[in-house]
Amino acid sequence: MTQTAHASNSQGKQMLSEQVYAHLRDAIMRGDYAPGDALKPQDLAKEHGVSLAVVREALVRLVGEGLADRLPNRGFAVPAFSDRRWQEIAEARRTIEPVVLRMSIERGDVDWEARVRAAHHRLARTPAYVPEEGEHYSSAWSEAHRVFHRTLLEGCGNPVLLETFDRMWTASELARRWAAQRTPDRDALGEHRRLEEAALARDADTAAEVLAQHLTLTAAALTGCPHQAKEA
Ligand SMILES: [Zn+2]
Repeated sequence: MTQTAHASNSQGKQMLSEQVYAHLRDAIMRGDYAPGDALKPQDLAKEHGVSLAVVREALVRLVGEGLADRLPNRGFAVPAFSDRRWQEIAEARRTIEPVVLRMSIERGDVDWEARVRAAHHRLARTPAYVPEEGEHYSSAWSEAHRVFHRTLLEGCGNPVLLETFDRMWTASELARRWAAQRTPDRDALGEHRRLEEAALARDADTAAEVLAQHLTLTAAALTGCPHQAKEA
């Protein structure tokens, strides 16, 4: 095989793997699979009309992002989920995110401030629910929400911490998707506004406290004990 043919071949394989990856990621995030469902490479290869190698590459990438688990028998599955697991994720977020927010407030420059303001504006103007998407948060709102929370932390300038945030966020989104639908009596708009105001006022103490409360309320809503939040 010539070098060019080889290059375009592996490029083609990469494109296919990217497509399978994107398809599976969306399906998992949409809740098309139940927690713990097997992701069978053979079946997926047949379904997508691609080779096993292409499917395995996509699955390995999902594992890296916390959207799939690798099983001891070399198989793959959608992560199993339990209240305990969610509490671990929530604890990790409450421990790490307020600390990163403090760093972000200390280090962020005026560009960061402008991005926080823009991200908050988009979030505040995006409807959380749309009729087509039923009881779930709309995908536009979910994305605006992710971007706002990430932007708040990006002033820290540490990519390792931001990757940690990305992983925890993905896991939280899965939990959110799988949690029974509950409509906690919650002022998310106000919580996000206070977060934005404290960050832009460079008030690290208030911002960290508001963020910790925000995460506690989310955890309580998802584990079905909305009143626990007040005591936590
Ligand atoms: Zn939020």
